[in-house]
Amino acid sequence: APVIGVLALQGDVREHLIALAAADAVARPVRRPEELAEVDGLVLPGGESTTISKLAILFGVMEPLRARVRDGMPVYGTCAGMIMLADKILDPRSGQETVGGIDMIVRRNAFGRQNESFEAAVDVKGVEGDPVEGVFIRAPWVESVGAGTEVLAEHGGHIVAVRQGNALATSFHPELTGDHRVHALFVDMVRANRVPESL
Ligand code: GLN
Repeated sequence: APVIGVLALQGDVREHLIALAAADAVARPVRRPEELAEVDGLVLPGGESTTISKLAILFGVMEPLRARVRDGMPVYGTCAGMIMLADKILDPRSGQETVGGIDMIVRRNAFGRQNESFEAAVDVKGVEGDPVEGVFIRAPWVESVGAGTEVLAEHGGHIVAVRQGNALATSFHPELTGDHRVHALFVDMVRANRVPESL
């Protein structure tokens, strides 16, 4: 099974570890560069993107993470994790940096404040069957995407799921629903990217 890390600096790490395991991956928390080097793919969880950014710099994983994403390691970001994968944030807080990897401009807290969080059925390209239950918590949306990106889902006229190569991002939190189809999609991306054991 592919080994998939969850960046464990802040945010809903545990929920992603459970969802990945349910989708047949070996899941483990990643904090240090040595741990990052050992995974086939990485999830950037929901949480608070400025905090995650600052801790990633403090723990010395920001640069190694950028390098691995440039090298094509599969990554999946939810909510704050989506913000981390944006090449550009519309309204960054001071000191806030991103990993980048997806040619998109993201607007933080676009759907409103914490008490305006909501759930909505979202059709996600590549996920078979019923729509995904999208949990939006102070969620960002994607303001615009570049030519190399694929829009996988929209809600209310706004882009809420995007893929570019091996990088996947959703505004919402499939890890909170018990429906592991989006994680399964990501695990498939990691499997497809892996060098066969026999080589
Ligand atoms: N609003 C948060 C941020 O800007 C993201 C919220 C979340 O991940 N649920 O980082």
